[in-house]
Amino acid sequence: MTSYWAAHAWLPNGCQPGVSFDVQDGRFAHVLVGVEPGTDQEILGGVTLPGLANGHSHAFHRGLRGRTHAGGGSFWTWRQQMYTLAARLDPDSYLSLARAVFVEMVQAGYTVVGEFHYLHHDQGGRPYADPNAMGHALIQAATEAGIRLTLLDACYLAGGLSAAGHLPLDPVQRRFSDGDVDHWHSRLDLLGDLDQVRIGAAVHSVRAVPAGAFNKIYESAGERPLHVHLSEQPAENAATRAFYGRTPTELLDDHGLLGPRTTAVHATHLSDTDIKALGGTQTSACFCPTTERDLADGIGPARQLADSGSRLTLGSDQQAVIDPFEELRGLEMHERLVTGERGRFTPSDLIMTASEAGYRSLGWPEGGRIADGALADFVVLRSDSVRTAGADPEQIAYAATATDVDQVVIGGQVIVRDGRHRLGSPAELLTATLDQLGMA
Ligand SMILES: [Zn+2]
Repeated sequence: MTSYWAAHAWLPNGCQPGVSFDVQDGRFAHVLVGVEPGTDQEILGGVTLPGLANGHSHAFHRGLRGRTHAGGGSFWTWRQQMYTLAARLDPDSYLSLARAVFVEMVQAGYTVVGEFHYLHHDQGGRPYADPNAMGHALIQAATEAGIRLTLLDACYLAGGLSAAGHLPLDPVQRRFSDGDVDHWHSRLDLLGDLDQVRIGAAVHSVRAVPAGAFNKIYESAGERPLHVHLSEQPAENAATRAFYGRTPTELLDDHGLLGPRTTAVHATHLSDTDIKALGGTQTSACFCPTTERDLADGIGPARQLADSGSRLTLGSDQQAVIDPFEELRGLEMHERLVTGERGRFTPSDLIMTASEAGYRSLGWPEGGRIADGALADFVVLRSDSVRTAGADPEQIAYAATATDVDQVVIGGQVIVRDGRHRLGSPAELLTATLDQLGMA
């Protein structure tokens, strides 16, 4: 057992001074507020936050950072560059890239990641000898990096959607597809939970999965989380309306896919009816502000979704930025730009979105808060850096960046100390792996 005393810590009822807690068998115990430090306690300066969830990640997209900005373009031209990278990866390079990216995430303060996984098969689209070779590479990468993982294994069956229906897969997309929903289900069935790994399911999008497959995917997910990319781009809405006569949200709702276990990723271009449907079913909405601005997606109706009953979560998605504070602030700052008002979300709203709501959406309802019995995941932020000096502890997340993370504890294990991950420098790991891929 380790006993800690935090100068300030975020508890479910807000930021509190003088918080004492124990970590026993990977869980918090004896959380007390307003106490003096004991002589046998480890002292945590700065501000201690609950573990932070990265609700939506494609680890390998990290290889594209800083390489896709020449020549303008759109989401769709960026996607072609992503496909070129996807075509190169194999289980070994996938493991080494994902491990480096997960180390970067933990050092930035993420303690759990939802990896939305669709790169399944070999370069010809054939299953590897282990049909989950790529999924197992992600599991190994997360385990070595010390981060909790929810592997959201995505069903991907079609190359896109037009007014005339779904399109055939192009050559690289064959790596993503199991051919039909039954083969996807059989492969998913081979994956199992581990101590720090949980398996979830995903519908890649209404573009990549015909509605006829939805029921089977929903049944296969069972009690596990179910994630789906939703209305990131107006073109998806237009094609779905043209072919089905419904919005993507309506289409999912028609098939019973919305609900508290479901997370809609992006949810950028929504009608008022869509917002009511998502909120009314308590579907979570995962916003990815740094990706949505990078890919010129637009700004989704975050406050309206929250007001209608959706739980908001946050993700780094394509890894243009890996910084939970930048995402958390992005949610509020984008709202400010759209509405002309400050304080659309309170500091508590933002911390809850970044922590407990994200854990719940990823199938870890027992985590994301500093409370007796909860998973002992926490992040200590420095309050004496050039960015954070003088910040009110309650407002520090508006000032901090990933660089201000001093310590990260996951399941009671210290993974980052003095700002350094136990596996060493993520920059060195990333440079080595990107070099091998001919990208450094
Ligand atoms: Zn995504």
